[in-house]
Amino acid sequence: MDTNQISANNPALTSWVAVSPNSDFPVQNLPFGIIKEDGNKRVASRIGDFCIDLKALFVLGYLENLNFELSDFDAEFLNSLMKKGKKAVRELRNRLSKLFSSDFTDLQKNQHHVDQILIPVDKVEMAMPVQIGDYTDFYSSREHATNVGTMFRDPNNALLPNWLWIPVGYHGRASSIILNEDVRRPKGQIKPDPNADPIYAPCRNLDFELETAFITFEGKPLGDRISTEEAEEYIFGMVLFNDWSARDIQTWEYVPLGPFLAKNFASSISPWIVTLDALQPFKVDGPTQEPEVLSYLKYEGQKSYDINLQVILQPENGEENLICKSNMKYMYWNMSQQLAHHTVNGCNVRCGDLMGSGTISGPTPDSYGSMLELAWKGTKPLKMSDGTERKFLQDQDTVIMRGYCEKNGIRVGFGEVRNKIIPAKD
Ligand code: MN
Repeated sequence: MDTNQISANNPALTSWVAVSPNSDFPVQNLPFGIIKEDGNKRVASRIGDFCIDLKALFVLGYLENLNFELSDFDAEFLNSLMKKGKKAVRELRNRLSKLFSSDFTDLQKNQHHVDQILIPVDKVEMAMPVQIGDYTDFYSSREHATNVGTMFRDPNNALLPNWLWIPVGYHGRASSIILNEDVRRPKGQIKPDPNADPIYAPCRNLDFELETAFITFEGKPLGDRISTEEAEEYIFGMVLFNDWSARDIQTWEYVPLGPFLAKNFASSISPWIVTLDALQPFKVDGPTQEPEVLSYLKYEGQKSYDINLQVILQPENGEENLICKSNMKYMYWNMSQQLAHHTVNGCNVRCGDLMGSGTISGPTPDSYGSMLELAWKGTKPLKMSDGTERKFLQDQDTVIMRGYCEKNGIRVGFGEVRNKIIPAKD
C-alpha cells in the first residue's frame, strides 16, 4: 500500500464498533485529543461514543512499524506526536482505520485488549490537546467585515481599502485558550456615556465569535515562507473556536492598535482535533476573489471546506435556541492563503500554533456569527424560547458551537465547544 494515501477516508469502510448514523465520529474521522482519567493524561482518538487509548494500543503492540514511540502517546499534549510530521500522522490514522474496520477481526475478537483500548467517553475528561505556542486570529469573512463596517463606519464603504488585498489578522494570546470551562465576565474600561469619562466596570456587551481554527505542524525556519501550494502540508487539523469578545471594552480600546483586553480574557476550542486529512472529502470551491490577489496569494484547486457551523444559546434552566447557522465555505480567504500571508515576511510558525479564521458570517441574517451582528448592535434583540430577549450575552447563559461535514452519507464532525458565562468578580 502507498502509505501516502489517505486510506482512512474510504467512504465504504464500516467499523466493528457500533457508531450511530448521526455521530460526528465514524471510522472516517479518527480525530486526536488528550484524555484525562484519574489525573493521568494520554493521547487518544475517538470512534462513536468511545475514546481509543493510543497508549494502550501502542503498549499492546498494535502500532508497530510506525514512526512513533511510547512517549508520543504517554504524553500530556499532542505536540510530540505532531512533531513527527504529516506523513507519520497520516500513517498512524490509516493504521487506526485498519484496526477498527469491520474486516479486521484480530482486535475485535480479543475482548481483553478491547477492554483496555476502548473507553466510554463519559468515563474520561477531555484535556487541552495541544501546548499552543502562538495564537493568531484572522478576519477573513467578507460578510462579517462588511457587517461590522456597516454598523461602525460607513454603510456605503464598509470594507476598509486593504481588506480585499490582505488576509487581515492580529496576534492573540495563547495563555487564555480554554476548553469547556466556565467563562467569567471580564471587567475593564468601558465608556457607556460617550460624553463622559470612561469607567471601570464589568463588560456589558459580552459576545461570542463563531470561528474555526487550524493547528500547525512545525513550519519552516525564520526567514522562509510557506506557499499556498505547500500550506496544507503544514496544517495538522482543525477545531471549533469561540473567540469571546467584550464589545464595549473593544470599542473604547481598539484605536490605534487593535484588539487587546476585549479579546484576551478567554477563547475556547473544541477538544478533538479533526485532521485536515479527514476533511479532504469535503473540499469545495472558494468565493471569487476580485480584485485578483497578489501572486503569493494565488492558489490552484479547491482550498475551501464545506463545514456546517451552528451556535446554540441556552439560557439558565432553559432549552437550546439555535441562533446561527453558518458554513466555513463562506470564508473569503482560505487557510492556505492565511498561512502563506502569515509567513510571507519570513515569520516562522511552530508546531502547535493556532490560527483562528475570524468570525464566519454567511450572507443571511440567520447566518451571522456573533451577537453583535445577529442583534444588529442591540437594535434587533433575539427572542429566546423562554420568552426572554438578548442583545448580548447574560450571566448563566451557555453558548454551544457545533460543526460537521456531510457528504455521500458520511458525516465527519467536531463535537462541540460549550461554555457557561459566570458573573464578573467583585
Ligand atoms: Mn475573532
